[in-house]
Amino acid sequence: MMTVAAASKRRNKFAQRVVGEVDAATAPGSFSHGRREQTGPAAKAADPAALLAWYDRHHRRLPWRAPPGDRADPYRVWLSEIMLQQTTVKAVGPYYVRFLARWPDVGALAAAKLDDVLRAWAGLGYYARARNLHACAQAVVEGQGGRFPDSEHDLRALPGIGAYTAAAIAAIAFDRRAVAIDGNIERVIARLHAIETPLPNGKGEIRARAETLLPAHRFGDFTQALMDLGATICTPKKPACGICPWRDACSARARGDAESFPRKAPKVLGEMRYGASFVVTRSDGRVLVRSRPAKGLLGGMTEVPSTAWTPAFDAVAVLEHAPLKATWRKLAGVVEHGFTHFPLQQVVYVAHVPARTAAPDGMRWVPFADLHGEALPNVMRKVLAHAGLGDQNP
Ligand code: SF4
Repeated sequence: MMTVAAASKRRNKFAQRVVGEVDAATAPGSFSHGRREQTGPAAKAADPAALLAWYDRHHRRLPWRAPPGDRADPYRVWLSEIMLQQTTVKAVGPYYVRFLARWPDVGALAAAKLDDVLRAWAGLGYYARARNLHACAQAVVEGQGGRFPDSEHDLRALPGIGAYTAAAIAAIAFDRRAVAIDGNIERVIARLHAIETPLPNGKGEIRARAETLLPAHRFGDFTQALMDLGATICTPKKPACGICPWRDACSARARGDAESFPRKAPKVLGEMRYGASFVVTRSDGRVLVRSRPAKGLLGGMTEVPSTAWTPAFDAVAVLEHAPLKATWRKLAGVVEHGFTHFPLQQVVYVAHVPARTAAPDGMRWVPFADLHGEALPNVMRKVLAHAGLGDQNP
């Protein structure tokens, strides 16, 4: 049996839903990856039954999964799908288990305090998801009698559920005929049909092709089988075509250039932004923090006082933004962080003040020992680590 750690080494670091376990018989390491064994055109159409048979034998064992053929709990499917957005299976696992232990059903989550949900989410990133998770649980309890709707249309009306997530829940939890296309599935379909149109324009063609592949039944298993194929066999680098259940039907394999699919348009990166954070500690072992505004980037999360993050950062006047009068010292180096739409570089200033120093309006002192319980986004964990407080690798 291939371990999670060993398997995860193989994944491209940007790939989502990476890998759980793969039976030894199909472990990619047991074959020569990416061998160009066939150079002519693909011989036959992809057979959904072949993929389902492969899934029955080699599906990943994931904490939120029901065995093949069984119907999964909609609450578990929904919770896992929200957590998996922009996040790997490996990172989600422990969070999912903790959430489920603390809030075992949608009613329990709806009754939770938002602050507790944000704290439990801290470190998972993309915090709007946690706020939507809580809002969605309340909407299901208050507007749906505590039961998730079973159609894509009605699921999409709930907070935080977009087209992909609605299709995934409809297929996996309710076995509805739905096509949920994530990055893994996009890659499989683009290769299977050697789709030349670059992403994102190629998405429509990929979806249309995926719809033609749907089986007559077992829509949930088929969706998960496609996810697993992309995560464990049809990987971004060195796909294990030799053991793929669709190897004889795959156009990219026949051409010998599977890795070059899906075609991608050149990436446009966001403009670099700059800022400064102020880490002030009190001699009784506390650090000054505040909560970010409820709306906007990292809404409601905890931060040390910081400047705005802008492309035109005034490094000369930076101390005008310091939260209180103190002897400030600028730390060497910068803290780098990547948000979805822009990269960030932050300088960090530190100061130490007496125990009785009052917190400025809107701020509060938090004991060092309690920092782990704060809803700190990863960028702030990095800032605190840079200042010698907290975990260096959030
Ligand atoms: S779908 Fe094609 S490219 Fe992907 S693993 Fe199978 S044979 Fe290889």
